Amino acid sequence: MLSIQPFTFNAFSENTYVVFDENKEAVIIDPGCYSREEQKELSSFIEENGLKIKLILNTHCHIDHVLGNNFVREKYKAPLLIHKIEEAQLRAVKNYAPLYGFDGYREAEPDQFIDEKDVISFGATQWKILFLPGHSPGHIGFYDVKEQTIFSGDVLFEHSIGRTDLPGGNFDTLIKSIHQNLFTLPDEVVVYCGHGPPTTIGEEKISNPFCALSLLR
Ligand SMILES: [Zn+2]
Ligand SMILES: [Zn+2]
Repeated sequence: MLSIQPFTFNAFSENTYVVFDENKEAVIIDPGCYSREEQKELSSFIEENGLKIKLILNTHCHIDHVLGNNFVREKYKAPLLIHKIEEAQLRAVKNYAPLYGFDGYREAEPDQFIDEKDVISFGATQWKILFLPGHSPGHIGFYDVKEQTIFSGDVLFEHSIGRTDLPGGNFDTLIKSIHQNLFTLPDEVVVYCGHGPPTTIGEEKISNPFCALSLLR
């Protein structure tokens, strides 16, 4: 059984997740901590629970999801894994971060490129990687078949979907990702989103207005 600790960080109210097992083996998904207070909140939780950070994962590399990459990579000496296609998004962040007021942003070097042929493993946990482009071109999700949970970043939100007006975004691609790769999962799968509360595949299939509308197009 995995434990999931969410944090909401930075001006974009981004969800960072620390996921860990009984043996304290842990991963950090989308570290968005930026201020000293946010860094402290995250590191205090990790220390108080005696967690061993094995991996740092980015669902995609928009600024709100990568602000804390460098902090956690330096602190825990864990490798940063991203999709190869997201590298361009990651490299771009340092150029536009000051425009958003994040002058202190430091880029973290990705340690490994991953795609849907790979498996994320830490402790006894194994996660499938789902390729979910549309919000961002190299967007991925981490699917735990056993626990019936998915961490899918900014693809699908409770009763909403990710925006597609940013560079590399594409509405039709996003809708296709949702229908082909998320709505084909069991209804009871819990979706941990990049923003806002968790939802389920079943709930969104019924009530997500964006995806329902797309069926009529
Ligand atoms: Zn995003
Ligand atoms: Zn986001």
